[in-house]
Amino acid sequence: MIRAVKGTRDILPPSSAVWNHVESVAREVFRAYNYDEIRTPVFEETQLFARGVGADTDIVTKEMYTFDDRGESLTLRPENTASVIRAYIEHRLDQLPGVCKLYYIGPMFRRERPQKGRYRQFSQIGAEAIGSDSPATDAEVIEMVTEILTRCGLSGFEIYVNSVGCPDCRPKFVEALKQRLVDVAPGLCADCQRRATANPLRVLDCKIPHDQPAIETLPSILDHLCPACSSHFEQVRMFLTDRAIPFQVKPRLVRGLDSYMRTTFEFAHGALGAQNSVLGGGRYDGLAEELGSKVHAPGIGFSIGEDRLVLSLEEAAPGAHRDPLQIYIAPMGGAALRHCAGLAHELRRAGVRVELGPSAKLKRNMETANKLGARYALLVGDNETGAGVYALKEMSSGEQRNLDRAQLLETFRSPSL
Ligand SMILES: [Zn+2]
Ligand SMILES: [Zn+2]
Repeated sequence: MIRAVKGTRDILPPSSAVWNHVESVAREVFRAYNYDEIRTPVFEETQLFARGVGADTDIVTKEMYTFDDRGESLTLRPENTASVIRAYIEHRLDQLPGVCKLYYIGPMFRRERPQKGRYRQFSQIGAEAIGSDSPATDAEVIEMVTEILTRCGLSGFEIYVNSVGCPDCRPKFVEALKQRLVDVAPGLCADCQRRATANPLRVLDCKIPHDQPAIETLPSILDHLCPACSSHFEQVRMFLTDRAIPFQVKPRLVRGLDSYMRTTFEFAHGALGAQNSVLGGGRYDGLAEELGSKVHAPGIGFSIGEDRLVLSLEEAAPGAHRDPLQIYIAPMGGAALRHCAGLAHELRRAGVRVELGPSAKLKRNMETANKLGARYALLVGDNETGAGVYALKEMSSGEQRNLDRAQLLETFRSPSL
C-alpha cells in the first residue's frame, strides 16, 4: 500500500470544514483591511530564499527542499515573504498608489522533524504591507491578525511584541551579546554554542528549558535601541494600547528571519503546548533591496500557521464547524426515484444540503439517513408522488408533517433549518 509521505497528510472531513471556515474568515478580514490576494509559484530559484530568508538560518541550511532542474537549483518555498517581495519588484508594484497590501493562503515546505501541529508540507495564511515604514502600519497589521483569530473563534491567545533594532543599533547589541556569550555559551546546548559565534541573536530564541535561566541573564536589545528605533517601538505600543489590544513586550523575541528589523511579534496559544506559536511576523525594511530592488520598499508581514490554528480550534470546540446534511430524500420505488431527482435538484438550487437516497425499502433508507446525521428525511412513495405531498420527518424527534412542494421549499429557505 502506498501511504502519504512522512510529514505530509490528507485533510479529511470534518476537519476540512474547519480549514474552509478559517480561510473564509481570513479572506473576509483581509478584505475589510483592503488587502488583495497574491498567488506566487510554489517553487522558486534557490538563491531567492538564501538571500531573502538568510543564508545561515536553520530554514536555509537544514530544512529546504532543494532540487536540481537540469542545471538550475530550485527550491520549494519554505515561506512566502521572499516570493511576494520578488513579485513586488518584478512587476513594479511600487508604481501602484498607496501601500501595497497583499495576502496569500497556501502550502509551504520545510524538512523539519514531524511533531504535533508541525508538518513538512504545511499551510500558511499571511500578508505583507509594502511601502510604509510607519509604526501605525505595524499596529494595524497586529490588529488585523487579532481580528482574524478572534473571528475564527480562538480565544485566550497572547500577543508578544519586540523591537530588534536596525542596522544602526543592532550590531552594537550583537557585539555586547557576543561578549557575554563568551562566558555563558559553554553552559548552553550545542545549538546555542554554535550560534554564539555564528548568529548570536538566535541564542535568544532557544527553547531548551535547561538554557533558559542563563539566557535570561543576557543583555536586552531594548537597552540598545537607537533613538529612531526606540521612538518607532514606543509608537507601536501606543497604537496598540489605543486599540485596546493587550500585548506583552518580550525582549527575547527575535524571530527566524535575518531580514527582520524593528517590530517583531508573535501570537501564542496554550492548546499547543511547547510549540505554542500560532503565528509570527515582523518588519523587514531592507529586504526588497536585498532582493535587488532599486527602490526602498519598507514592509511588514506575518504568517499564520494554519495547521496549528486549525488544531487549536478543533481542541477548543470539537465539531463546531460541521455542516450537517439537511435532508435525506428516501424514495420508495422506481417512479418515486425519478420524481425525487427533480425535487432534489430544486432544493439544491435553493441552497439546501440534500442527499438523494436510492430507491429502497423505507427501513433501509432511514438507517442510512440516521448514519449520515441528516436532520430531516423526506419520505416519498408512489402515493406521495401522485398527490404532490411529501412526508417530512425530523430525525431527532421522529415528528412528521405533510408538505407540498411549495411548502417544502419555503420551509428550507428559512436559515434556521
Ligand atoms: Zn536602530
Ligand atoms: Zn540552547
